[in-house]
Amino acid sequence: MLRILLVLLISAVALAARGPVYVVLWFDTEDYVEPAADDAALRIATDLDKMGVRATFKVVGEKARVLEARGRTDVIRALEHHDIGYHLNYHSIPPVPAAYLREMGWLDGAAEFERRESPGVADIRRIFGVTPSCYGQPGSSWGPQSYRALRRMGIPVYMDEGGQVGLNEQPFWLGGMLHVFGMGRYLIRPSLNDEAQLAQTFEQFDRAAQDLEAKGGGLISTYFHPTEFVTTAFWDMNFAKGANPERSEWKKPPRRTAEASERCYRILLRYAEHAKARPGVRFVTARELPQLYESQLGRVTDRARIARHLAAHETFLETEDAVLSAAEMVQVLLGIEPAVVEGPVTRAQTAYRETGISRPAFERAKVDAAGFIRANHRLPAEVWIGSQKLSLADFAATLAGDEGNSGAVEVRKGNLEMQKYISNDDTGTFSWPIHPEGFRAPELLELGRLQAWTIKPARLR
Ligand SMILES: [Zn+2]
Repeated sequence: MLRILLVLLISAVALAARGPVYVVLWFDTEDYVEPAADDAALRIATDLDKMGVRATFKVVGEKARVLEARGRTDVIRALEHHDIGYHLNYHSIPPVPAAYLREMGWLDGAAEFERRESPGVADIRRIFGVTPSCYGQPGSSWGPQSYRALRRMGIPVYMDEGGQVGLNEQPFWLGGMLHVFGMGRYLIRPSLNDEAQLAQTFEQFDRAAQDLEAKGGGLISTYFHPTEFVTTAFWDMNFAKGANPERSEWKKPPRRTAEASERCYRILLRYAEHAKARPGVRFVTARELPQLYESQLGRVTDRARIARHLAAHETFLETEDAVLSAAEMVQVLLGIEPAVVEGPVTRAQTAYRETGISRPAFERAKVDAAGFIRANHRLPAEVWIGSQKLSLADFAATLAGDEGNSGAVEVRKGNLEMQKYISNDDTGTFSWPIHPEGFRAPELLELGRLQAWTIKPARLR
C-alpha cells in the first residue's frame, strides 16, 4: 500500500514539474474574392467556440470591409468571440511589403508601412471593436521596418511563419516585438486533404508536446486559412508574379465539394480535440501571449558577467534571473537604465586607426553614445572618437572589455554572433507565388541583421 502511495506521489510530482504547453491556433482570414470563405470563417469560429477553443483570426483590412459590405455581421460577431489580429490591408495587391520595403531604409520604410497600413488597422478597430493583437505578413513578404510601424500602431506581437528569422524554434523578441515565427518542429499543420494522415500528425503533436514539457514548457503554432476549407487553390492567384488586374477581372478560386469541405472541418476539430485532451495543454490567443512570457526588459543583476559575455560574443545572454539582448547589455554597460530600443539603421565600418583610446576620449564617447540612445530609442551605427569612428560592434566589444581604470582603453573587434539568427537565403526565404519572378531581398535580411542587436529568446513566466 505504502509503495503504491509512493508511486502515486512521485508521478504527481513529475506531472507538476512538467512545463505547460500552449497552442496558438490562428487563421489568416484574407480571401475577399470568394464569398464562400466568409461562411468557412463563420463555421470554424462557431465550431471552435462550441469546443471551448479560442483561436486568433488575423483579418485582412479589405476582408473586414467586404464582410461589412456583404452584411455579414454574423461572421463578424462569430470572429469577435475569438481574438482578432491583422494581416495587411490588401494582402496580395501590389506593391506587397517586401517589394517596396527593400528599396527603403529603416525609418522611411517604417513610415511608409505605417502610411499604407494604418487605414487597414483603423478599419479592423472600427469593424471588430479592438486593436489587432498581432500582425503577420502576407505570404513570405516580410520586412523588418514593419516592427517599428506596428509598435507605433499599438500591435505588440508578430505571429506568422517564415524562414527569414528564427530562434530555437520558440518565441523570441526582436525589434521590440514578441515573435511567433520560425517555429520549426513546433509548427504543426494537419493536412486538410488527407484524413488518414491525421494519426501521424497526432504523433507529431505528442512528440512536440512531450519535448516542450520536458524543457519546462513552450509553444506550438498551428495555422490555416478559412478559404482553404472551401477552395482548392488560393484566391490571390489573381495577383501571381506581381500581376495587378482590375477588380472586374478577378477570377474566383476553384471550390471544394461540400463533402470535401466537411472533411476539412472534421480534420480541424479532431486535431483540436486531440490537443485539448492532453493534460497540461492549453489553447491561447496572440492577445494572451505577452502575459505568458516574462516582460521584454530583463532585470539586470551582474554587470561583470554582462561585460565578460559581450566582450567575447555579441549576442543575448541567458541567466537564471533574466534574458538580456545585446542592445540591453550595451545600455547596462553605458550605465543607463535599459529601455526597449531599436538596432542601428546602417552598418558602419570602424575607421579608428590606433590600438588604444585615451581614457577621457573614451569616456566622452560613452556619454555621446548614451545620449544618442536616450534621444532616439535606437542604437547608434557608429560612435565617434573625435574625428574617427568605431562601428557599433567594435565599440560594444571595446566597452565590454574595458576594466574602467586604465589610462588608455584597448580597442577590440566585435563579434556579431546574433546575426546567425537571420537567414542568408535572400531568395528562398522570400519565395511566394505573388512576388515577381526571381524576387530577392538581401536588403531586408541586412536590416534584420542590424535589428538582431535586440534579439533574445522569450521566456515563459
Ligand atoms: Zn495570408
